[in-house]
Amino acid sequence: MDNNQLKEQTSPAPVIERIRHDTRRRTLMVESVIDITPGMRRIELTGGDLADFTSLAPDDHIKIFVPATDGGEERRDYTPRRYDNAERRLTIDFALHEAGPVTQWAIDARPGDRLEIGGPRGSAVVSKTVKRWLLIGDETALPAIGRRIEESSAGTVITTIAAVTGPLEEQVFTTSVELHIHWAHRPLSQATDAAALLKLLSTVDIQPETFIWVAAEASVTRDLRAYLLERGCPLGWIKASGYWVFGKADTTEKFG
Ligand SMILES: Cc1cc2nc3c(=O)[nH]c(=O)nc-3n(C[C@H](O)[C@H](O)[C@H](O)COP(=O)(O)OP(=O)(O)OC[C@H]3O[C@@H](n4cnc5c(N)ncnc54)[C@H](O)[C@@H]3O)c2cc1C
Repeated sequence: MDNNQLKEQTSPAPVIERIRHDTRRRTLMVESVIDITPGMRRIELTGGDLADFTSLAPDDHIKIFVPATDGGEERRDYTPRRYDNAERRLTIDFALHEAGPVTQWAIDARPGDRLEIGGPRGSAVVSKTVKRWLLIGDETALPAIGRRIEESSAGTVITTIAAVTGPLEEQVFTTSVELHIHWAHRPLSQATDAAALLKLLSTVDIQPETFIWVAAEASVTRDLRAYLLERGCPLGWIKASGYWVFGKADTTEKFG
């Protein structure tokens, strides 16, 4: 699909329903810790508090609370990768990097440890009429990308472009959707450089009525979003977030 065809796209933007949830703190216990890849630690948590846990969109986020060195509390955003009310289980995938307090907590976590979480405060649910997705991101986006891939129904077409450090970090997803997955390899030291993702993105055909979701380091998200707009993708079909900001703790950015 060339730029002009995309620019001529007249379909209205899909409805995004914003649903608020009652939120409260939940105290959970670590049930298991496994590294699904060398750089991605999966922690399963359990607790009676999960009986009424709700997360309606794959890119929802919860707050994770851990003690701060000054006696206060640190809080960071993480994606509920999977949850099961009946089993009282919540799964979170932690991208391991030079550790801030929550990554350090995940590195040290052992079965039986406690963790406090809050939220999600709300879910932004994109209309089920959307049947084509382009999901772009780095390691921090993979939990939401994986959840979208696994929760979408047959008949959905999902193209994913994900930046990871190498072949060992490529994840496998079980899904009934038509999945086209492209991995961009770059060292973590280049996590603020959009080049590897842009190179792959320039080779991908973007059909009209494709919902494009982007999450990565904020400067990378900004560059990807600018490229997509330049290519003619309509603003109402793009959701782009900076999931972290290089050199700044506890910082995220939202782009229109
Ligand atoms: C909506 C949302 C959902 C998210 N979901 C997930 C998720 O499911 N899994 C996940 O791993 N992350 C996720 N993130 C990103 C995560 O919140 C940040 O990476 C967070 O900064 C990690 O906290 P920290 O305490 O380890 O580091 P911080 O104390 O916040 O930061 C310490 C230093 O590490 C740097 N840093 C932060 N993250 C990274 C990184 N990924 N790679 C390299 N350097 C980094 C910061 O720039 C800072 O210099 C999500 C973010 C958002 C906004």
